[in-house]
Formats: sequence, C-alpha cells, structure tokens
Amino acid sequence: MSLASTRNICIIAHVDHGKTTLVDNLLRQSGHYRENQVLAERAMDSMDLEREKGITIKAKNACVVWHGHTVNIVDTPGHADFGGEVERILRMVDGALLVVDAVEGPQAQTRFVLKKAIENGLKLIVVINKIDREQGDPARVHEQVLELLLELHATEEQFNAPFVYASARNGYALAQMGDPIKDMRPLFESVVTHIPPPKANPEAPFEMLISNLDWSDYVGRIGVGKITGGMVKKGDTLFAVRKDGKREKAKVSKIFIFTGMGTAEIEAAESGQIVGIAGFEDLGIGECMVGLEDQPALPFMEIDPPTIKMQLAVNDGPLAGQDGKFVTARQIGDRLRRESRINVSLDVRETENSNVYEVNARGELQIAILAETMRREGFELLVSRPQVILREVDGKKMEPYETLWLDVPESKVGDIMQTLNPRKGRITNMEHRGNRALLEAVIPTRGLIGYEAYVINLTSGHAVISHMFKEYGPMAGEIPSRSSGALISMEAGEATGYALDTIQQRGKLFIGPGDEVYEGMIVGENARSEDLPVNPTRAKQLTNMRASGSDDKIMLEPPIRLSLERAIEFIANDEYVEATPHHLRLRKKILQANLRKRSQKD
Ligand code: GDP
Ligand code: MG
Repeated sequence: MSLASTRNICIIAHVDHGKTTLVDNLLRQSGHYRENQVLAERAMDSMDLEREKGITIKAKNACVVWHGHTVNIVDTPGHADFGGEVERILRMVDGALLVVDAVEGPQAQTRFVLKKAIENGLKLIVVINKIDREQGDPARVHEQVLELLLELHATEEQFNAPFVYASARNGYALAQMGDPIKDMRPLFESVVTHIPPPKANPEAPFEMLISNLDWSDYVGRIGVGKITGGMVKKGDTLFAVRKDGKREKAKVSKIFIFTGMGTAEIEAAESGQIVGIAGFEDLGIGECMVGLEDQPALPFMEIDPPTIKMQLAVNDGPLAGQDGKFVTARQIGDRLRRESRINVSLDVRETENSNVYEVNARGELQIAILAETMRREGFELLVSRPQVILREVDGKKMEPYETLWLDVPESKVGDIMQTLNPRKGRITNMEHRGNRALLEAVIPTRGLIGYEAYVINLTSGHAVISHMFKEYGPMAGEIPSRSSGALISMEAGEATGYALDTIQQRGKLFIGPGDEVYEGMIVGENARSEDLPVNPTRAKQLTNMRASGSDDKIMLEPPIRLSLERAIEFIANDEYVEATPHHLRLRKKILQANLRKRSQKD
C-alpha cells in the first residue's frame, strides 16, 4: 500500500441524515460486497441497539479501495456521552465528510464535532444527501452550511470546501446539481483530489498515539491509531509510554489493517497508516507507542473522566430467576469486566456487597445501553438511578459540569429557561434563527439526569439537545428531584382489574391486570409527593357484588410502559429497575415495608 494513495477521513452527520447508507454504498460500489448480497447488517451500525436508537455507540472503521486508492473511513460518535472519542478520532484523519440532509439542513448536534474538525484544520467535503427527496432544497441547505462554517470560524480554505450532491440510498453522487446521474464516482473523486494523503515521516523512529482500543480473545489487547512516524514489523520491539511517563517493552505479535468492514493481518505497516497493534498486555487510550527506549513520547491525551455512576446488582426480588439465563453475581461480574476491556470509558468496580457492582461512565445513556444489551443477552439485573461522581479538591466537594446545547422552537424558549433554573443551568449564549432558538448553557451533570426526556416531552419532540463534559466545579446547591411519590404494592400476587381501577384514581399505573406483583414493587406514580402503599391484588368480594355485570364498568387507562432509559431516570435513589429479558419492573431497594421504614429512621 502506498501512502500517496491513502486517504484517512471521518464522517460527521446528524442522526438519520444518511451516514450509514452512504458508507454502505461506498463499500458496495468499491466491490466490497458481492453483487446481490443482502446486507443483514448495515456497515457502520452493527449493534441492534445502535440501529434502533439511530446512534453510533462505538466508533468503527471502514476501509474502501477505489481505483487503487485506499480510503480509511473513521466514524464519529453521534451522542455526547461518547463525545470524548471525537478529539482522538479527528487526530487520525486529514479530512472530514460533512453529511447534511437536503430537507433538514445542518442540525445543532453536529456543530460540536464540526467545530472540532475545523479547529483541527481538517479539509472538508460537504455532502448534501437525499437530493432525491421532493421537499429537498439543496441550494438553501448549501447556504445554511456556509453560514454555519462562517459561524464556526472555518478558514478560507475550509469555507471553500467542495460540495457534492448525493442520494446515498440510490447510490449516486453529483459534482453539480443537474449533472447526469450515475454512481458514487464524483464523491470518490472529490475525496481523492481534495483530501491530502497522510503526512508521513518514514525516516523517523516509530511513533503512534493510541486513539482506540480493541480486544480479541486470541491476541488480547489491541491498540489502534495512526502511525505518525517510521514503520513497524511483526516481531519488532516497541515501548508503550504510560501517562506517568513509565515505559514498558513488548514484542509486536500482530498488526492489523482495516478492510471493508473487517480487519486483515499484515506483516508490516508504515507512517500514515491506521492500524491495530497487538503484543502489549495492557494499553490505555491517550498513551503512545514508540520504537526507541529513549525516544521522546507524544504528549498524553487526556480522556474525559467518568462523571456518572450506577449500580448494577443481582436480582434478589421474589421473581428472580424466572425469566433470565444469567442471574448470578459471578456471571454479571464476568460480563461487566469483559465490557470494560473493550469499552475504555466504562469502569467497573466491585463494592463491599458482592452482589452489587458499580459502573462508572461518561453518561447515563452509556450505562443504560449496556444494561439493555445485557438484558437482551439473557441477563437479569437490578439497575440503580444514575448519580454523579463527586470529587474532593482542597477539602471542597466538586461536581461535574457540562456545556449544554439546545435547539428549540422559539415559542418554547420561556419554558426552557424555566426548566434550566431549578437545574442550576446558566445560559451563556442565545441566538435566534428563524423560528428556532439556539441556547448554550453551563449546567451541573446532576441537573442533566432525565433532562433530555423532559425537554423532548416539553417540545413534543421538536428539540435537539446535546451536551459535553466541561469541568469539575463547586457544588451548585440543591436540585429538586422527582416530585411525585410511588404507588407501592403491599402484597404479592396477580394484579386485578378491580383493584387497579381504584388505584388509578391515585396516579398513573405502570402495570395492567394479570401482571405479577410483589411486596415493594412500584406499580405506579402517585400524583402526590409521598409514597403510597396499595394492594393491586385485591379481588372483589363476592358478597359485595351489587349486580352481575358490574365489572363492565371498569375502565382502565392503559399502563405506562417505561423504557429502561426512562425507567432509570424516573426512579429515586432508594429504588431499582428490575431488568430481565422480557420484563421491566420498578421496585424499592428494600422490599419489606417495615424494614424500609426502619431504614428511613436511621
Ligand atoms: P444515519 O443515521 O446518518 O446513519 O442514517 P441512515 O443511513 O441510517 O439513514 C437514515 C434514513 O434515511 C434511512 O431510512 C435511509 O434509508 C434514509 N436515506 C439515506 N440516504 C437517503 C437518500 O439519499 N435519500 C432518501 N430519500 N433517503 C435516504
Ligand atoms: Mg447510522
């Protein structure tokens, strides 16, 4: 592989604007899929959950070979919980494709990554996608992108980025609107002519920043990055430089490159290539590998610290073991440790209670996704409410803060400002664009828990919200949590329509008739602020029956079935979500009413 024919690029796109479809088509047209092969899996979203949620959870690499050119495509994460990856990914590439929907135009969520790409001096190519859509207005979107580039202080060269017009789904791209429709060639050509080959320094000693980690059961830890100096062969000795400057020596056992959507082993690699290197038992993101013992190291690249912690515990409720295959502490522990090996932003810790693990991460979504994945694999677990990770600096308690970006309908600005106040959010910037308002705020991570769902609700789905870790700062003061109490079952058994009919007058139900309940299980949300014990299993006494057929009068509201994400945001600190493959239940941590009361007194 010659470097002059290599291009390293990333893709920046808002959810649904067509990133995955575009990469699929580039792969297909470069001959990586056999003709007529049905793609069960779309290239860049390999996890079921990613496809469902339409976000990239784990950045992946793809590689397209086109007319002798090798184009490495690195995905960028689409959610702020994974924002820490962005900086490292941008270091590996020389150019970025900005994919924008021809109807929707550029969206607030991509601003952050685009801004970073601009600051990193990447060459840009703008792909206006979905030009086949009738409501599409490529000319207007073109204008909007230029405005955005100006606003983000693009250089003149970035501002003059080539625009390519595409219909990824139909497999074509055009250099100019009105050009004859053929294939993706104009996009390939634009990449090859506009994005420079990687800067290479083949004469220098070996040097690579570890931008990502991978794990294979066969070779163990794999460090992924772009080689910025020299070359490496299998069997070479390299030095890993730790954050504290310590060096460790190891022999390179395997070198991988990316091919299509997979990897292939190679014997040697050189400066400019994006590769995976195995041989070290332990590696950390942000560290580097160098070829000589006394060679200066690349500066360590800090990764965002975990700011959220949650407990994942063994299901010890009365219905435990009835639904899942994996239920023991050992099985859960093994699974979590396996996850933390491949997902560096997750940190799994044991606690004093061998049935309870603490998982630290960069956001609640990240942990919720892990719990959801495990549930689908057949695990049963209890999940706690997310809590922020506090720090002590000079004897003072500090909490994490984030920068929050909101893109909301103008008519909702007043409401939004009111929701930010109690959450201790401070608006730092506000702009009006047509009938939309763009707000920037600084807010404690604590105030963000459950906020996304709240804003989406408030705006009937017409809001875009994103956030990014900023810094640790002094505690912001009290932030009110859920104002409603829970309706708690006092009994075990099957819920009856008769009982639920009475209970629903107290609040909203999470269960329906026939659902199994147990003591301490949360069956609904109380309209008032305190917890209320209820008996959902009560059956109508036959002697009380006034007239036959009176059951027909029962009109139950359909129960609210919370998703795992919503459920963990809803629960209070003394509550758990019980997640099993087919059920999500909410419960008190302490199930028995008398024990619960006693613990509240202490
Ligand atoms: P991603 O979230 O950016 O990865 O977007 P996807 O590739 O998953 O595409 C989101 C949706 O847009 C899917 O339903 C695609 O079929 C559709 N889509 C992608 N490209 C085009 C296009 O060029 N034209 C039209 N009409 N739809 C497209
Ligand atoms: Mg996608």
